[in-house]
Amino acid sequence: MPAYVEQYQCELRLPVYLTFDDGPHLRVTRRILQVLREERAKATFFIVGNRLKEPGALEIVAQAIAEGHTIGNHSLTHCDLTLFSERDITTEVVTTSKLLEPLGVACTLVRPPYGRTNNVVAKVIEELGYQLVLWNNDPRDWARESQPDKWVDAVVAAVHERNARVILCHDIHETTADHLGCLIKRLSREGYYFATWGETGKEAGGLGQVLQ
Ligand SMILES: [Zn+2]
Repeated sequence: MPAYVEQYQCELRLPVYLTFDDGPHLRVTRRILQVLREERAKATFFIVGNRLKEPGALEIVAQAIAEGHTIGNHSLTHCDLTLFSERDITTEVVTTSKLLEPLGVACTLVRPPYGRTNNVVAKVIEELGYQLVLWNNDPRDWARESQPDKWVDAVVAAVHERNARVILCHDIHETTADHLGCLIKRLSREGYYFATWGETGKEAGGLGQVLQ
């Protein structure tokens, strides 16, 4: 193949952003990290602060960081932040980031639980210096009708039909870990690659706030 063709094809490769919410989970997150390692894929994990209080949880996040994944903030208690005062939203975000501090992670991303946001939530997150990150590809990996691997078809269909490449998954369900490798293989074969949020600079910045 001529070099210029190869290069052209290379430039066509588009990033897919795998994002995992609600962890760390002592067993499932470890399994997901293993799949990502095997498939040489990167992802972003939105951490629930209260989960870090479980023995062993911080170590899993440390492992994710060491393996090149990005860590984001998914609040302390996983509540609907639109019901909270500015002060309580601040506490939810800042306390979670403080819990991550021992790992030396500079957390710059916030994903509000359930994707619930409004002007107040967005303003507080921005004023605290974080980027608010939602998603545009929700396969409902947690739902009964998505089991065991229908959620994989849903992701691929949304990528094909809508170019929706910010994927919402949850690293607390075994079936998500079971079929993640299959998802990565399917999209990799089509030329997509799996990047952490922000890794690809301009594009991630351009996507900014992704609406559902
Ligand atoms: Zn969540």
